[in-house]
Amino acid sequence: MHIILVGPPGAGKGTQAAKLVEEFEVPHIATGDIFRSAIKNKTPLGKKAKQFIDQGKLVPDEVTIGIVRERLAEDDCQKGFILDGFPRTIAQADALQDILADLDIELDAVLNIKVSEEEVVRRLSGRRVCECGASYHIEFNPPEEDNACDGCGAELYQREDDQPETIKERVAVYKEQTSPLISYYQDLNLLKEIEGEAGFEEVFNNIKQALC
Ligand code: ADP
Ligand code: ADP
Ligand code: ZN
Repeated sequence: MHIILVGPPGAGKGTQAAKLVEEFEVPHIATGDIFRSAIKNKTPLGKKAKQFIDQGKLVPDEVTIGIVRERLAEDDCQKGFILDGFPRTIAQADALQDILADLDIELDAVLNIKVSEEEVVRRLSGRRVCECGASYHIEFNPPEEDNACDGCGAELYQREDDQPETIKERVAVYKEQTSPLISYYQDLNLLKEIEGEAGFEEVFNNIKQALC
């Protein structure tokens, strides 16, 4: 199963990707996670990406495309992947078509998780994350113990780019640079619209229905 998740920041891509990965046993490739790990490890990529991420801007295409090209060439992607947060521009989508053609991989579906702007702001402002990759919401999906990860017990934190000003910028960037992908994939007959403003399980059911 080769699937792309698009949708605004905070739509629930990461949350649903975790469920899909379990269901289909394929790797979860999230460019945001790759950048955050590079930043944490202070690699050259991390240094480059940080300045853009902190401002809520996109990391330049030439950096991002190279990272994805390398990752998709690894063996585990042949049987499938859940691509989360890439592509985010038309140039990235064009590059992805070339990468997939080179690898002889065909996309099965592009899922657009639809959520209103008000809900995006609610979800992002209440998001708390763990360094193990788990993600919570203070209201909609709180951890069992205050501010501690259910899985590994580590202290949860708020992403720096989940502050109000940066959220605003990310939403604007989404509208301007990423939302054109919806008609791009519609034209390729790959787009599936997913109603994302529902409970966690209900959204997952919507996705499963769209995939059969
Ligand atoms: P979100 O919760 O907004 O979906 P992500 O974790 O996917 O966040 O991305 C966090 C940040 O990483 C983005 O705001 C952007 O700066 C950078 N980023 C992630 N994916 C891409 C991409 N495909 N192209 C450019 N920048 C990206
Ligand atoms: P994205 O990867 O698209 O940025 P996340 O999966 O990180 O989004 O979800 C953003 C926030 O919204 C998280 O705090 C998450 O717990 C919460 N969330 C995700 N899906 C739902 C849902 N269906 N209902 C309520 N909150 C949700
Ligand atoms: Zn954890």
